[in-house]
Amino acid sequence: MLIFNFHHVEKEIRHPERKHITISPQGLSRFIRTLRLMGLRIVSMQEVLERENPAENSAKEVLLTFDDGYVNNLTEALPVLEAEQCPATVFVLPGRFAGTNEWDQGHLPEAARDQLLSVEQMKTLAQSPCITLGSHGMRHRDMTTLTEADLQHEIHESHRILSETFPNAYLPVFAYPWGTYSQPVVDVLKTSPYRYAFTVETAQWQTGANPYLVPRYSAYYRDGNPIILLAKLCRHNLLFA
Ligand SMILES: [Zn+2]
Repeated sequence: MLIFNFHHVEKEIRHPERKHITISPQGLSRFIRTLRLMGLRIVSMQEVLERENPAENSAKEVLLTFDDGYVNNLTEALPVLEAEQCPATVFVLPGRFAGTNEWDQGHLPEAARDQLLSVEQMKTLAQSPCITLGSHGMRHRDMTTLTEADLQHEIHESHRILSETFPNAYLPVFAYPWGTYSQPVVDVLKTSPYRYAFTVETAQWQTGANPYLVPRYSAYYRDGNPIILLAKLCRHNLLFA
């Protein structure tokens, strides 16, 4: 199974330095259509969780994920996902509802930072049959640097809040902030309610892989161009597996 990781969806990139984590709405639409034209099937996280071995016989399957929970996921990504009837999972930060990206943009004034969804906006997003939510921890902290107590809080408290606030949309899946993890982090996740945890390592999800180290490919702005996306799929040997 091939898993892609998006962040921002914007008509125009607000901050050039994050071109590598932004795609345009039109680009997202072309991305989805290109995958489907190549005979790949975009599966939902729900379907993945219902399977005993999700990666088995999944060479033609794709899972789409979005990290952080930006407002543009509601205003720009959702209309595209609904128009294409395309499932996606958004990994959100219940410790930062209606907040901003302080972890990468703390040097900017608050108004210039990227805005995160409020609870109400997230409820609107989560009402869509296309959307499921997962946890990105509470506040986008580097999990490898936390004390045992803070680690437990990030992992368990985010699960508790999300499962109580979005009972119909939330699924027990986790994405590591920045993709960083360590053995103690994985060990805490193993004893938690989470079924899978996602990294940003570029590989396909293979049968028998560690369910707490599920790899994802980053989707870039230029991947909204079908030629470039096809070249990427070929380069990583993703089309003819
Ligand atoms: Zn993140």
